[in-house]
Amino acid sequence: MQTAEIVAIGSELLTPTKTDTNSLWLTELLNEIGIEVMLKTVVGDDRLRLEETLKDSISRSDIVITTGGLGPTEDDITREVAARALGLELEFRQDLVDDLRERFKAYGYEMPEKNKRQAFVIKGSRVLPNPNGSAVGMMAETGVKKLVVLPGPPREAKPMFIDHVLPELTKSSGQIAVRRKRILVSGLGESKLDELISPIYTRYENPQTAILHSKTEVEVQLTSSASTVVEADHLNSELAQKIVEKLGIAVFSTEGEPIEKVVGDLLRERNEWLSTAESCTGGLVAQRVTDVPGASGYFAEGFITYSNEAKSDLLGVDEALIKKHGAVSAEVAEAMAKGARERSGATYGVSTTGIAGPTGGTDRKPVGTVYIGIAGPHHSKAILLNLPGDRNLVRWRTSQAALDVLRRHILKAGDERTVPFARRS
Ligand code: ATP
Ligand code: MG
Repeated sequence: MQTAEIVAIGSELLTPTKTDTNSLWLTELLNEIGIEVMLKTVVGDDRLRLEETLKDSISRSDIVITTGGLGPTEDDITREVAARALGLELEFRQDLVDDLRERFKAYGYEMPEKNKRQAFVIKGSRVLPNPNGSAVGMMAETGVKKLVVLPGPPREAKPMFIDHVLPELTKSSGQIAVRRKRILVSGLGESKLDELISPIYTRYENPQTAILHSKTEVEVQLTSSASTVVEADHLNSELAQKIVEKLGIAVFSTEGEPIEKVVGDLLRERNEWLSTAESCTGGLVAQRVTDVPGASGYFAEGFITYSNEAKSDLLGVDEALIKKHGAVSAEVAEAMAKGARERSGATYGVSTTGIAGPTGGTDRKPVGTVYIGIAGPHHSKAILLNLPGDRNLVRWRTSQAALDVLRRHILKAGDERTVPFARRS
């Protein structure tokens, strides 16, 4: 397998506000043709550091791709430094100046003399045209190594790479296809998950399995390589099927879809309706449900009942019940879900009530104490979670758990959930 590395050039990428995103799509495209990215570097507009970086990368990797620093200004140094790193000269190309002058003219401008800098290219390199900007790219070869020099703006770099670099790299990579498959899991902790599936995936070297943890869900990522895309997909599917069989209801998607989309599809297929009653999430569950296009086909109504009065007035939760158990309780959560369902006429009501923090926790109900209520045509109940994290994270995790409890309830398996860091009431 050929190896690549990416060098993102530009001092602005070292500030707190700018991120190198070029390397992300570059990696995706390279992976698809079986080229593995082994290293990424972000380097400022500094001649010495850039030259050192480029020399190192060329000595380590088969393919080095740079982005940025091809503009006409003094701080755009990539052209000159890349040539030096390869031990080659820059060559002035009159045809590139003529072309630039024409382009400026077409917009009614004189070409500024500064732009002449952009007509210097690494001697012997292939010039990569840029229909979306003034900086041409370059592809230089030394022996078996390739250096690809792309402009910084993604809308210039991406089409240039796809049209003028990718076809050649595909040819020389031996056409190995690398494909990924994402299995998304909810309501099951990372270590429990690994315990269940490691006896399966450790038997395979291809696909490779990685378990990734995000703020609310666990992802099993399969990466396979084969001589064709179809074959690689097949290898992934085969292992995915075994993993999904083992994990059962805990898997909510094998296509990388968010849980709100999965729940929406379930409701639409069944011609069923959902209403939400939210306290600590303040509408986040309803927002996520309605983020999905077509939600009007299954989402009836969202109640945001933050105060005790709202819970009673809008949802009909008995004041005495709130007084007796507190607003953050299984009884109130269940009554909220029932209320949302009954008042809106929806098939399901789902509710959230909890202590998101940072204040408001007590010994008996610390920050992160959350109840999810669920009410359907046949029964209703509440589930207690103890969620870690700051206010934002607790609210996000609550919304995810609410959607997952609903999903499991729709699939008539509501009791199987073992939420990470949580126990059931
Ligand atoms: P220009 O002719 O526009 O100056 P350039 O090749 O010199 O092009 P830079 O000046 O380095 O490119 O970057 C121009 C802009 O492109 C940056 O302000 C930034 O918005 C975007 N950009 C540069 N590098 C990256 C990167 N690695 N990821 C995402 N965006 C980038
Ligand atoms: Mg620039």
